[in-house]
Amino acid sequence: MPIQCSSCAERQAVLRRPKTGHSICKSCFFLAFEEEIHQTIVSARLFNRGETVGIGASGGKDSTVLAHVLKVLNERHDYGLKLLLISVDEGITGYRDDSLETVKRNQQQYDLPLIILSYQQLYGWTMDAIVKQVGLKNNCTFCGVFRRQALDRGAVMLKVDKICTGHNADDVAETVLMNVLRGDVARLRRCTVISTSIDGEEAIPRCKPLKYAYEKEIVLYAYFNKLDYFSTECVYSPNAYRGHARTYLKNLEAVRPSAIMDVIHSGENLDVKEGVKMPVQRTCSRCGYISSQTLCKSCVLLEGLNRGLPKLGIGKHHRLHNKILAQQPIIHQKEKLKTVEF
Ligand code: SF4
Ligand code: ZN
Repeated sequence: MPIQCSSCAERQAVLRRPKTGHSICKSCFFLAFEEEIHQTIVSARLFNRGETVGIGASGGKDSTVLAHVLKVLNERHDYGLKLLLISVDEGITGYRDDSLETVKRNQQQYDLPLIILSYQQLYGWTMDAIVKQVGLKNNCTFCGVFRRQALDRGAVMLKVDKICTGHNADDVAETVLMNVLRGDVARLRRCTVISTSIDGEEAIPRCKPLKYAYEKEIVLYAYFNKLDYFSTECVYSPNAYRGHARTYLKNLEAVRPSAIMDVIHSGENLDVKEGVKMPVQRTCSRCGYISSQTLCKSCVLLEGLNRGLPKLGIGKHHRLHNKILAQQPIIHQKEKLKTVEF
């Protein structure tokens, strides 16, 4: 027997919201999903009128939904934001080249400006070439560090006030679990923050408007809206540790749907006891990027690649900073940056 929508009591329900368990029709789901994100944006004061906001766009479901919802809300609630899409091309054949095609279609569908920055332009290396040198074990370390900086550098070039990323509730909960399991107190404290400030790990503040949106609902929203997104996994995706945290969380969610939100709330309410050493932010003496060490992680990794010593920057403590600093860099990031054209 058809079930009536528990929200409007007019139309037929077509889905059961994973977050609330309510049976609901398509239009009421869209509205509820969008307005919850609006509430997140308003209560955390994520944006100010007149700001230019760069959306980190990968072509995947999260960033596609984020771009779609932000465009809707910007018009509906008159945020007065200038939105644009920033994509990073890691140089991964069979993955990023295809997903970038999706981003290019999204650009047309949403009528938003798009900029694509590539690892090749910024660092002189593609992920394909990096994997050839470092293998499939530590590749995501390089990729993650380079992406963080690439997005930031793109945002600086475009004079963007804020970057927002498509991290959803499941991602945040997974990260909380991973940081607990690794005992990474500094990251544990930072990972639930919805919006990083100027003195964060990046030069441009970042925010996560989908922080409280369940992955399952993002998929439903994309599906019912017939959004155009790319769903293939990266060909170099080992990331075993996150995979375990993900499976663990999914198992918890199956027994208790609020598990995701519960883990986020636990992370948010953790207090770091006094005396725990937190990293001090300064700037990289080579490229000027924000860093807690003399050299930023990206410069160390890049130096390792260029010297044929890819293990150089892997691991938490690398004692080779001074040694590297004493030598001439093989490729200077800033010099490489001058060649970037748009
Ligand atoms: Fe990069 Fe690893 Fe993500 Fe692939 S899975 S895009 S290599 S971080
Ligand atoms: Zn640097």
